[in-house]
Amino acid sequence: MSKIYDTIIIGSGIGGLTAGNFLAKDGCSTLIIEQHTRPGGCLSSFERKGFNFDAAVHWISQCGEDGVIYKILQELGIEKKIEFVQINPLMEVITSNGRYTIPKGRQEAIAYLKDTFSKEAGGIERFFDIQGRITNEMYRLFKTDPDSMNTLARFFFNAAFPLRFPNIARYYRKKGADIVDSLTNEEDLRRILKIAAIFPNVSMMMLSWFWNVIYNADGYYPKGGMQKVSDALSENFKRLNGEIMYGKRVAKVITEKNQAKGVMLSDNTIINAKTVISNADARQTFFGMFNGDAGVPQKYLDNLKTWRLSESFFYVYLGVDMDLRKLSVNPIMWYFPEKGRHDFIGIGIPTLSDKGLAPEGKHVVIIGAFADDSARPWFGKEDREGYKKWKDTTADSLINLADEVIHGLKKNIVVKETASPLTFHRYTLNSMGASSGWSMDANEQNKLQQRSPVKNLFLAGHWTFNPGGIPSAFMTGRKAAELVKREIIKKW
Ligand SMILES: Cc1cc2nc3c(=O)[nH]c(=O)nc-3n(C[C@H](O)[C@H](O)[C@H](O)COP(=O)(O)OP(=O)(O)OC[C@H]3O[C@@H](n4cnc5c(N)ncnc54)[C@H](O)[C@@H]3O)c2cc1C
Repeated sequence: MSKIYDTIIIGSGIGGLTAGNFLAKDGCSTLIIEQHTRPGGCLSSFERKGFNFDAAVHWISQCGEDGVIYKILQELGIEKKIEFVQINPLMEVITSNGRYTIPKGRQEAIAYLKDTFSKEAGGIERFFDIQGRITNEMYRLFKTDPDSMNTLARFFFNAAFPLRFPNIARYYRKKGADIVDSLTNEEDLRRILKIAAIFPNVSMMMLSWFWNVIYNADGYYPKGGMQKVSDALSENFKRLNGEIMYGKRVAKVITEKNQAKGVMLSDNTIINAKTVISNADARQTFFGMFNGDAGVPQKYLDNLKTWRLSESFFYVYLGVDMDLRKLSVNPIMWYFPEKGRHDFIGIGIPTLSDKGLAPEGKHVVIIGAFADDSARPWFGKEDREGYKKWKDTTADSLINLADEVIHGLKKNIVVKETASPLTFHRYTLNSMGASSGWSMDANEQNKLQQRSPVKNLFLAGHWTFNPGGIPSAFMTGRKAAELVKREIIKKW
């Protein structure tokens, strides 16, 4: 009889790798199946002509010694395998009126803003007063229940919740942007206060948390590039006798009496397991990997169809032959051009955190913008030339904007690559190239429970936590492993 694994994990994103590590550590026979040729999903890198480019992620929070990622790595005994460099300052905002670099430290950041926008001191104080009260409650909530963000919605409907956490209750669904707009009319200040969360329409609760990340400079860069984190996890998984298959796509989850029993690969190979964890795209899991059966309630499927996805991005990866250290630039900059197709662009220069990512004297510059509606028609369309033209035009518009911030950038490009939502989809299979699972919009903030409606099928990754991101993927990976061990393995 062929082998029956304790668990098969679909996908080697951070959620899948973390789950795999915790299961393998406890002696469970675990197989991770990954469609790409390397581990990490969104947290991966690629190399061109000696330049090391991060495919998606610019910075990771929670990697300091108190951070949840550091603690998870510590539990796995691999915290020393990755050297995290603190990105400081974590944010510079550039407009046609000026450049604003937010210093580290809450008091310092507030003082800087009040000094810069002295007429708006009252609004700034009021904003950070609300922000501080929300953040304090969030810390208190985390202490009560480390998994609290995931169960917040449940808590929220508990009658005692607003009494214990009045500010979270009040601002959980209020849009941060509306609060900012009510406190100041100064355009640049509005931009700065809102950009901390990057994503549009996030709640005041989430905007407050992101500000906490910004002024604490809780953003880290792993030396050697983002792939280092995924590689450390995959290597440790193998050391713990876990098995990984690359370049293999799971086509189906096999069920019997509404219970997951294993998977079928796209080449029809069947692999059996007692439990399955899907780290793959939520829509793909429930619409692609089942035949619309296995007892998944209609309401669940309707939610999957109607819940909005998080935004996707358009990226341009540049290797440049210029010494950026001599210019006035920061590792992460947000530029608001006066006019044009993009409200703002992000510019990341990871070589300011780790010069080893590029040949001596050269730099990596990654430009990103939210993908607009122009990306949508290219999904499923067979027009390679038209697609390439659209991609090149979009890339040029981003490069032109970045050149306004980094003068001379355009002239000094030696390597250029681009990624559109289709590229992010191709490498991760996330629906429409969604960056972080479900939309973070204040009125939505959806997430799936990690215990799925199909018996013995669990979920890990950014579809099960809001907001998505690397810390969420780590936390849900650990929790998926706990669910598998607690609910299933102990009974064997
Ligand atoms: C452009 C961009 C920028 C971002 N920037 C940041 C940032 O700066 N900081 C931050 O914290 N977060 C950032 N994020 C979000 C973060 O990267 C993700 O939320 C997180 O990495 C998701 O991890 P995950 O474990 O859910 O899975 P994913 O990374 O989505 O990985 C899923 C894996 O499953 C595999 N897979 C899917 N289907 C199958 C199948 N059928 N068979 C086999 N394998 C399959 C995929 O190939 C992939 O490897 C960014 C995301 C993007 C796209």
